[in-house]
Amino acid sequence: MSLERRTLPSTLSASVPTKYQPNAVMPDVKVLKIGGQSIQDRGRAALFPILDEIVEARRLGIQVVVLSGGGTRARHIYSIASELEMPTGVLASLGKYIPMQNARMLQMLLAKHGGIYILPDDFEKLPLYLQMGCIPVMSGMPPFGYWEKREEGSRIPPHRTDAGVFLSAEFLGCKRALFIKDEDGLHTDDPKKNPSAPLIPRITAKELTAKNLPDVVIERMVVEYLPRAQWCKELQIVNGLKPGQVLAALKGEDVGTIITAT
Ligand code: ADP
Ligand code: MG
Repeated sequence: MSLERRTLPSTLSASVPTKYQPNAVMPDVKVLKIGGQSIQDRGRAALFPILDEIVEARRLGIQVVVLSGGGTRARHIYSIASELEMPTGVLASLGKYIPMQNARMLQMLLAKHGGIYILPDDFEKLPLYLQMGCIPVMSGMPPFGYWEKREEGSRIPPHRTDAGVFLSAEFLGCKRALFIKDEDGLHTDDPKKNPSAPLIPRITAKELTAKNLPDVVIERMVVEYLPRAQWCKELQIVNGLKPGQVLAALKGEDVGTIITAT
């Protein structure tokens, strides 16, 4: 077959479709984050039962991609590097190592069940790994590194592992991104400071922004991006410390909190 020579249109706008309609790359995949501080830093008591539920889901034929968080060690490097007046891009570059360490430990723990470590640009190998029954594991940190942008009033990279999970789900064309943390979902305030703060089972991104809560369970950037998503229109936050929640969420049940795009 000969490669035909194509002439470029005289104006770029002539070739741009009016609506952004990206392809859903792997819409059936479940993209989930295992919290860094909320889960992995707590050690085996918190983590092992969650891994058991992920393995069980995989046995049921559910295709799962696991992303890691950073947690306390990531916060430590952000704090030291900020104090040393490092630019945001340096913080983002340093901040990638901790989620990578966490992902490598998750992979080792899942190895006997098909856990396999992947890099963000290994996405093209996902079909093979998933068809072989593997559980791909990767860092949740999006690879902006030195090119990370700064937010007014802060040096901390605004896109951390929650953002990486959402952006991965959106790229893959998944409807929902799942966040496994240590609270029942989104409350009206941080339940660790205000234990009587009620749970919000379902809310839109707009309603959540309007509430201007003192603190939220997820990076604020993700809530800001959600209404613009083409595919990932829901964020689900579940309590990984409560048995059965992770498996229920992986089966598609509305446990925990669902934050919707509209
Ligand atoms: P991860 O380690 O998964 O990134 P974080 O520790 O960053 O998790 O965020 C989860 C924590 O957010 C919860 O443990 C909770 O204490 C806190 N949090 C703050 N605000 C809220 C809120 N409005 N609702 C629920 N949790 C909240
Ligand atoms: Mg966090």
